[in-house]
Amino acid sequence: MRILVVEDEPKMAGLLQRGLGEGGAVVDVTDRGEDALWMAGSSQYDVLLLDVMLPGIDGFETCRRLREAGVWTPVLMLTARGEVEDRVAGLDGGADDYLTKPFAFQELEARLRAVARRDTGERPAVLEVGDLRLDPAERRAWRGGVEVVLTQTEMSLLEAFMRRPGRALSRLELLEAGWGLTFEDRSNVVAVYVGYLRNKVDRPFGHEDIETVRGVGYRLRTPAL
Ligand code: CA
Repeated sequence: MRILVVEDEPKMAGLLQRGLGEGGAVVDVTDRGEDALWMAGSSQYDVLLLDVMLPGIDGFETCRRLREAGVWTPVLMLTARGEVEDRVAGLDGGADDYLTKPFAFQELEARLRAVARRDTGERPAVLEVGDLRLDPAERRAWRGGVEVVLTQTEMSLLEAFMRRPGRALSRLELLEAGWGLTFEDRSNVVAVYVGYLRNKVDRPFGHEDIETVRGVGYRLRTPAL
């Protein structure tokens, strides 16, 4: 595992480098967020360990800029004890997890393994297609700024559509997205739920964006099409 540690306190930085190195990781250390930006952008790390309080740009800003630049390396944020708002800001800024100082080294290693296992594909905090918005973390959706209340299943289906805008999704793909692979009764549940979704995000707003693709399934029309 290759880890970039961004920590300005020399003692803590040294401890992390030694401890993680002894655990078999390859560890680079920098004390500035600005350096982390180009290091993580030009080199492949499995995980970034990012302290919140840094000289120059702080950990949140570093994380935000990384995500803006399309760098989706998993980030574990280190916060000071009890900084609850920091936790929220960290997760909003695209961090994958956070750990409060002081921490047990074993817990740090367990968290690092957990975030490093996550898919590092693009995971935008909020999905947007035309005037549809969906926040997967908050499980909330909006059409043209108006919040639309969706059930879990409807939310999962809309998310599947919004992750592949313009692409036809088969009924099987939508079944997996909405109900998981274990769902047995495939009769017409997808059609029923796509109908629910249309009644919530399309019809009330005068849209017909969720299209039926004959012989395949359904597609969310993109504004450009
Ligand atoms: Ca610090």
